[in-house]
Amino acid sequence: MNFKNVYLADLMEKVKKRNPGEPEFHQAVEEVLESLEPVIEKHPEYIEKGVIDSIVEPERIIKFRVPWVDDNGKVQVNRGFRIQFNSAIGPYKGGLRFHPSVYEGIIKFLGFEQIFKNSLTGLPIGGGKGGSDFDPKGKSDMEVMRFCQSFMTELSKHIGADTDVPAGDIGVGGREIGYLFGQYKRLRNEYTGVLTGKGIPFGGSLARTEATGFGLCYFTDAMLKDNGSSFAGKTVVISGSGNVAIYANQKATELGAKVVAMSDSNGYIYDKNGVDLACVKQLKEVERKRIKEYVVTHPEAEYHEGCSGIWGVKCDIALPCATQNEIDEASAEKLVKNGCKVVAEGANMPSTPEAIHVFQKNGLLFAPAKAANAGGVATSALEMSQNSMRLSWSFEEVDAKLHDIMVNIYHNAAAAAEEYGMKGNLVAGANIAGFLKVANAMLAQGVV
Ligand code: NDP
Repeated sequence: MNFKNVYLADLMEKVKKRNPGEPEFHQAVEEVLESLEPVIEKHPEYIEKGVIDSIVEPERIIKFRVPWVDDNGKVQVNRGFRIQFNSAIGPYKGGLRFHPSVYEGIIKFLGFEQIFKNSLTGLPIGGGKGGSDFDPKGKSDMEVMRFCQSFMTELSKHIGADTDVPAGDIGVGGREIGYLFGQYKRLRNEYTGVLTGKGIPFGGSLARTEATGFGLCYFTDAMLKDNGSSFAGKTVVISGSGNVAIYANQKATELGAKVVAMSDSNGYIYDKNGVDLACVKQLKEVERKRIKEYVVTHPEAEYHEGCSGIWGVKCDIALPCATQNEIDEASAEKLVKNGCKVVAEGANMPSTPEAIHVFQKNGLLFAPAKAANAGGVATSALEMSQNSMRLSWSFEEVDAKLHDIMVNIYHNAAAAAEEYGMKGNLVAGANIAGFLKVANAMLAQGVV
């Protein structure tokens, strides 16, 4: 820990004691508090009025049992979570993650990050996150439906279009959102925009599916342009092959880059001719198969077991789009050694603090998740606006708004970094710009 400020050092110790066994949450808080050192020197009122003490404590943690019946008639029991972290600037907003690794610490880290990310979008949304240790992989559609219905039976008591509006995340895509929405409507007898990422026929927004991946590339493109470069002619490596990774690939390719590698939690593919995205979409979105199947139809490509090997593939730009802490120090060093010049995070917290240090020390352009992957939640907020107005915008309209939001986030983060004496450090810039708006709203609302 590198705190010069005693108050922040003590607060960090308190967070660790109060939230034992939750290293991902500690990591997320530490990164934000470190960035805030110069801010509180200028604005001691954030300490005096308890804003920083409050912002690291969730407003509410909901934890519940999710019993459901599998296809063999056996009762299965999972655990559900919703953490309503901060509502200073709007209703809680953030995705639901269904993955066996989910526990309270993961949801807390994601909910905490969401506060600042949502603030950066410039839209009126607070921070929240939820999920379950349920694993949708290998389950039948009917099992997924029964699980979602049970999950929503409890969750529906705590959410609402003006209170808390969940969306998707790992393991929660269009299918799961549909089942969750159907159950909410049935329980509450109301047709509201209580979830985002809905199907287009029932209130979804065009371009929401593409938004996180597209937004990541719009942000990266703005950062590249500001540094006299672009995607054109660059070689790109993208981890993951889920929602974020697929649409990051599509947009990076549209902007003139060649994506040569993608992965899933078993291994990665390398295709020197450029990954055939239509094939990846068919395998992952339609057939729900493993990425290794790619080489069956593309014998010229290679498949390698294990996910971290992907960071040894030579590239100009790396877009980690799978999961937290997927790039450690050794992987970061491999990227640097192979000439990578840009890392932009599509997943949440995919680089360890040591990896970020390696990138910064070697002068790479580094775009942190909070800023770079905010396009998903921004478009979710646009879906909320359309639902409230009972209107829908065209794909082009939503995409144009997304583009402007991402370019603004880049410029705001870059400006905040410069104002606080850390020019080019977008980690600090994003944390500071995201924090200031929420902190000022909290100050104005008093001790609540
Ligand atoms: P998906 O479930 O659609 O895809 C996740 C991808 O990451 C899959 O390829 C999956 O492989 C891989 N993956 C998941 N867990 C691991 C792991 N432990 N190790 C290696 N690979 C793993 O999720 P999304 O694309 O929606 O989310 C990806 C990341 O982006 C997450 O960090 C999420 O929080 C973040 N994010 C998502 C947003 C969205 O709008 N969807 C918005 C902002 C951030 P496999 O198929 O083998 O599980």
